[in-house]
Amino acid sequence: MSGDVLDGWEVVIGLEVHAELATQTKMFSSARNVFGGEPNTNIDPVSLGLPGSLPVLNEKAIELAIRVGLALNCKVQRSVFARKNYFYPDMPKAYQISQFDLPINEGGWLELPSGRKAMIERAHLEEDTGKSSHVGGGGRIHEATYSLVDYNRAGVPLIEIVGAPDLRSAEEARGYVAELRSILVAIGASDGKMEEGSMRVDCNVSVRPMGTEELGTRCEVKNINSLRSLGRAIEYESRRQVDLLTSGQRIEQQTRHWDEAEGRTHKLRSKEEAFDYRYFPEPDLVPVDPSPEWIAEIAASLPMLPRQRRVRLAEAAKGEVADAALIVERGLDDLAVEAMEAGADATRVLVHCVNNLSEGAGQLSTGSFAALVAMETGGELSATQAKTVLADLVASGGDPAAAAAAHGFEAMDTSELDGIVDGIIAAHPDDWAAYVEGDEGERKKKSGFFVGQIMKATRGQADGKLVNKILAQRAAG
Ligand code: ADP
Ligand code: MG
Repeated sequence: MSGDVLDGWEVVIGLEVHAELATQTKMFSSARNVFGGEPNTNIDPVSLGLPGSLPVLNEKAIELAIRVGLALNCKVQRSVFARKNYFYPDMPKAYQISQFDLPINEGGWLELPSGRKAMIERAHLEEDTGKSSHVGGGGRIHEATYSLVDYNRAGVPLIEIVGAPDLRSAEEARGYVAELRSILVAIGASDGKMEEGSMRVDCNVSVRPMGTEELGTRCEVKNINSLRSLGRAIEYESRRQVDLLTSGQRIEQQTRHWDEAEGRTHKLRSKEEAFDYRYFPEPDLVPVDPSPEWIAEIAASLPMLPRQRRVRLAEAAKGEVADAALIVERGLDDLAVEAMEAGADATRVLVHCVNNLSEGAGQLSTGSFAALVAMETGGELSATQAKTVLADLVASGGDPAAAAAAHGFEAMDTSELDGIVDGIIAAHPDDWAAYVEGDEGERKKKSGFFVGQIMKATRGQADGKLVNKILAQRAAG
């Protein structure tokens, strides 16, 4: 958000992020935990809350929750499940099993892209609800003709990560969620897919006069489905609050709904109308008290986290890497680091990772990647040819020299190229005069013309950089 829009006011944001844990089965039963099945096929008496069914704790969910806690620098502790009571058709027991006063993870932090730490209050376990769809009336419950309920999601394990009110702009909030997402994916705790609802964000927003300490009254915005919506919702909501305050009104603490199509938030309910959940300890489950040995074992099994991987990439590249986050996000950092350590040119390696490779690198091996970059920097392949060869290596592996030969990309020796350049110059005397005598702009234009002609004559096999060098030599002497 640009500073002038909220002149004199500071936005304060605290996020509650729910992530579905990547277990095979549900939190308290053996029904499968998978996205996108036929409605009501991954269910069982526990997911449906049938009378007499009892929850059985999924050990894997606990392990993943501990992984999250450790990756977020939390204290992992003895925890107790609680019943959170409310009625909703997609929650058949009329209570949700969650953690309340004794969460499994407490007090951690996450490093923002700026290097600043955002504190995390807690990361606790709970079960997901089912999913209602309202048919007719634009999908809103009030106007719907009827509603359908799918219990496939009921009982899927969730981790709720409650952030402190530490974020100060829409951009910072997006950075926080993006970082949290890559951590969850890196440690195998969640697939982090916001578009499939496996990661959902509730966003608390307040504003206060710049330079003051006391927190303003907050509104909680629900139904945010993407990083883009998160940014838009914060900008809308903070603007709305500042407008109210500057016109002498007060902020009522509310839960609001983000409407993506309208680009605004709507009131759902005020604090007075908030549910009274009547929490009490879940009598059907014992407290979870992970042993220090188990926690240590899980800690030892954690992979390198995205932040460390970005640092390692920058070190291997011997400098700041503008797109380090993107390269790590795509899981290309191992490939890049190893290729650079094998002597491949850092600039070319990074350019390929950002522009010519996507998620994962298919069949491409580190060795052939490094060899390809060496052919490129050695002048055996032009940048365009290298890109073509790279696509082959990703699709079907193999050796870059063989792939280049298969395309007929032969190294063009310098004397041959010299002759072709001279021929083109001779064929276009006026353009050449303009190149030699023109100002910088003119020369640039004409060099584009000559490189184009030479590429045509060599069927794209000439190295553009080398051509420019020869042109400059001819013009100089
Ligand atoms: P509740 O008990 O209603 O869930 P919490 O104190 O647990 O409230 O806070 C929930 C979330 O709201 C946290 O992510 C926290 O950072 C955020 N939050 C709390 N107060 C504010 C505020 N004044 N402005 C912005 N966010 C806030
Ligand atoms: Mg809360």
